Amino acid sequence: MHLGQSIEADYAVIGSGAVGMAFVDTLLAESTASVVMIDRHHGPGGHWNDAYPFVRLHQPSAYYGVSSKKLGRGAKDATGLNVGMYERATGAELVSYYEQLMQEFLATGRVKYFPMCDYLGEADGVHPFKSLMSGETRQLNIQNKLVDCTYLQTAVPSTHPPKYEVAEGVTCVPLNDLPRVKAPPSGYVVVGSGKTGIDACLWLLENGTSPDRITWVMPRDAWYMNRAFVQPGEEFFLQSYGSFTAQMKAVAEATSFADLLKRLSASKQLLRLDDGVKPTMYHGAIMSESELRELQRIKNVVRMGRVTRIEQNQIIFQYGVLATDPDRLYVDCSASAVARRPVVPIFAGNRITPQFVRTVQPTFSAAFVAHVEANYARESEKNALCGVVPLPDEPIHWLIMLAANMRNQARWGKDKGLRNWIANNRLDGFTALAKGVKPDDGEKMALLQGYGQHAAAAAANIQKLIETGL
Ligand SMILES: Cc1cc2nc3c(=O)[nH]c(=O)nc-3n(C[C@H](O)[C@H](O)[C@H](O)COP(=O)(O)OP(=O)(O)OC[C@H]3O[C@@H](n4cnc5c(N)ncnc54)[C@H](O)[C@@H]3O)c2cc1C
Repeated sequence: MHLGQSIEADYAVIGSGAVGMAFVDTLLAESTASVVMIDRHHGPGGHWNDAYPFVRLHQPSAYYGVSSKKLGRGAKDATGLNVGMYERATGAELVSYYEQLMQEFLATGRVKYFPMCDYLGEADGVHPFKSLMSGETRQLNIQNKLVDCTYLQTAVPSTHPPKYEVAEGVTCVPLNDLPRVKAPPSGYVVVGSGKTGIDACLWLLENGTSPDRITWVMPRDAWYMNRAFVQPGEEFFLQSYGSFTAQMKAVAEATSFADLLKRLSASKQLLRLDDGVKPTMYHGAIMSESELRELQRIKNVVRMGRVTRIEQNQIIFQYGVLATDPDRLYVDCSASAVARRPVVPIFAGNRITPQFVRTVQPTFSAAFVAHVEANYARESEKNALCGVVPLPDEPIHWLIMLAANMRNQARWGKDKGLRNWIANNRLDGFTALAKGVKPDDGEKMALLQGYGQHAAAAAANIQKLIETGL
């Protein structure tokens, strides 16, 4: 391989998605390091560049993005299924946010950016990357560390073909193509029960499709987080901290994992589509109760496992066959957003592999990892602060993640500098609210005290509970 010009920087960051951007933002703010960023996409923002036109964050914008730059106006939705709750950025807003941010990075003179370039991996200490446009291959001359922000391998339907066969004459599109429908088909079949499947169903309903014309293929039912309980802002204090406390109380008092799920479901901490069906999946998707009620209007929910093949007159599943007709439109939502790869140490020699250090919070986690990199010296100490919170797939992972989260939280709580950093970081969302409670505010103080007591009891019970659910 002929290697052209070498590009030198202290850090080489592979991937300018949400994780790469959050990492670099904090590194620039807290060190004097120079950075080179490489990405296959034409612009920053990663998978948000490939998203369907009606995508939105499923969490509030208030604590997504990067530490230094606000996302959104801090407004609440006045209409729709998120009414009364904090705004959630659209895909277009996110792409624009990341574009502006990249301009700010470049203006520092410390960042070089190579979009439309493929990092080819390390071989014998050489780090080649190749332009997708010119084919030219150059190499990275990394003075300090390589930061692999591609490890989560986010997949969206537009960039991943369906995981099942589609016979000739059947129309099957990624949900990106849904708004291009020109004439109504005889019905819609949404394949997938994750976040994108939910979005496809909600979009169809919001745009006037009768629920009777939607068939929802649900290979696995899922538990969902309740968006009402992850609202930042003073006015939601009792709701949010009330929820954190209820969760801790449930973990402290439950006698088994099944009992815990019963308690979390009864208090609406976790939501599910059908009370008669036991969910076998948990991916951390967040929804509002209004969205849930809307989705419950769809009665044609098919639970026959994964689709293996769609033909003009039948759909073949793992566990059965369903008659269909050739005029149906199939909407593929089967890409699994995040790959569940093995956990690796975040800091290992001259490589950093950002992963989650807080439950399903990729951007907070990336900023936190950069903060630790910039401010702590020993690798063992860095890894101890950055215990990896594994990604979820099954319901028990809700509890496994909570346990890992609590271990990190306990370590962070012993470090005053870290406590302050977290409380002042916009990506955290909630700590500043608790810190701001006035000692004479009896109701809030009592809630925080209760939270602390239940959290201690939960920590004592959590491992035993996990064992009952494995
Ligand atoms: C529909 C949807 C909604 C979501 N909503 C939320 C939400 O509300 N809140 C939340 O916290 N999370 C949400 N997520 C999870 C989401 O995965 C993360 O928020 C985050 O965007 C992931 O960012 P990332 O940087 O890890 O991945 P990506 O966005 O995939 O970025 C990785 C980048 O690396 C580049 N890359 C990969 N390999 C190479 C290579 N060899 N050479 C060069 N470049 C490479 C890719 O081109 C890409 O740009 C959502 C996910 C989906 C799909």
